[in-house]
Amino acid sequence: MMCCVEVLKMAGTKKVGKTGKYGSRYGLRIRKKILKVESKKTKECPYCKRKRAKRIAAGIWECSKCNNKFSGGSYIIKKTKGEK
Ligand SMILES: [Zn+2]
Repeated sequence: MMCCVEVLKMAGTKKVGKTGKYGSRYGLRIRKKILKVESKKTKECPYCKRKRAKRIAAGIWECSKCNNKFSGGSYIIKKTKGEK
């Protein structure tokens, strides 16, 4: 009986530790990805296919090459949803 309790306790501790490790790693990965997107601040323009689009407002991008405006927020919104 004592042996059984000990094994159960060990298994439980192991399971929690594994989940915690995975959780923190997953969060860091997403944070790193967001940081990469945010730090770049330029996006490929869907009109001229050049990476000259700059974010001028939340979800609004303007291309400095062809002066077209387009919404590119869906990409970041998707990421935020995934983090939740
Ligand atoms: Zn353009």
